[in-house]
Amino acid sequence: MKIEKMLKRYRVDDGKRFRLKDYDPADTHGLKSEFKKEAKDLLADGVQELSRLQDTLAAQDRWGLLVILQAMDAAGKDGTIKHVMSGVNPQGVQVTSFKVPTTEELSHGYLWRTSQQAPARGRIGIFNRSYYEEVLVVRVHPEVLANEKLPKRLMTREIWEERYEDIKNFERYLTRNGIAVVKFFLNISRKEQKRRFLDRLDTPEKNWKFSASDAKEREFWDAYQEAYEDAIRATASEFAPWYVVPADHKWFTRLVVAQVLVDELKGLDLEYPKVSGAQKKALAEARQQLEKE
Ligand code: ATP
Ligand code: MG
Repeated sequence: MKIEKMLKRYRVDDGKRFRLKDYDPADTHGLKSEFKKEAKDLLADGVQELSRLQDTLAAQDRWGLLVILQAMDAAGKDGTIKHVMSGVNPQGVQVTSFKVPTTEELSHGYLWRTSQQAPARGRIGIFNRSYYEEVLVVRVHPEVLANEKLPKRLMTREIWEERYEDIKNFERYLTRNGIAVVKFFLNISRKEQKRRFLDRLDTPEKNWKFSASDAKEREFWDAYQEAYEDAIRATASEFAPWYVVPADHKWFTRLVVAQVLVDELKGLDLEYPKVSGAQKKALAEARQQLEKE
C-alpha cells in the first residue's frame, strides 16, 4: 500500500474550498480493522524513518520543524505524540503544552509565549495546542476575549480575520527563517468523543483523564467545528499546510501523522554536513595518533 499517496487527501494547503463536512472522522482509507496489525508494523517503519531523518536534521543544524496539534478533547493528541515520537532521540524534540494563559502571558501579545517555544534549528518542536486557541476557544467564549486586557477599540468584529492574518504571517516568517511548519487537526466525531469520555468514566485507570469541564465543552461542539473550519480555511497555505486527520480510529491517526512528518522532513534538503579537505586531513591524523598508542 502506498501511504504517501493517501496523505494527499488529508492535506489542505489552499483553504478556499475547504469544508469540514467533506472530511469523515471515521475514514480509514478503506483499510479494515483487520489491518490494525499491519498498521502497527507500518507505524514502526515510519517511526524508524523519522528517527533517521531527525538525526540528519540535528547534524545539519539548518532547518527546524514546528508541529502543531489541535483537536477537540479526547481526540488523541497525547497518544499521538507518545506513539509517533517514540523512536526519536529525546534530545532533539521538545513538546510544549499551551493551557489557559497566565497573568504574565496575558500582559503580552498572544504570540509571545508561543514564539519563545518555537524550535531551534536542528530540532523538532511539538505544540500540544498553540496560538490557534486564540481563534478557537477564545472565539467560542467571548468572555475569554474580554479577559485578554485588549484596548477596547481593538476589539472589533474584524478581530478574527486580523488574527488569521497575523498567524499566517507569523508562520511565513518562521518558514522563511528555516523553521518548517506543519499543522494537524485531529478530526474526531462527536459520537466517538462521547464514547471515549464514557470509557474514561468506566475505567478507574483512566478516571484521572476525565474532567467535568471537558464534558461541558461538548455543548459548544458546533461552535468549535465552525471555528475550526474558518481557521483552517484562512490559514492553510503551501508553506504551512494543515492536515485534517481522521481521528475516530487511533491506529489510523497515528499512521497518518507519522507518515506526514516523514514526508515533511524528506521535503527539506536534509543531509549530513560534508567534511572538507582540511577536516579529512585532521581526521586522518587523529586516526594515526590513535593507532600509534
Ligand atoms: P489534557 O486534558 O489531555 O491534559 P489539554 O490540552 O486538554 O490536555 P487541559 O489543561 O485540559 O489540557 O486544557 C487546556 C485548556 O486551556 C483548554 O481548554 C484550552 O482551550 C485552554 N487554552 C489554551 N490556550 C488558551 C488561550 N490562549 N486562551 C484561553 N484558553 C486557552
Ligand atoms: Mg483537557
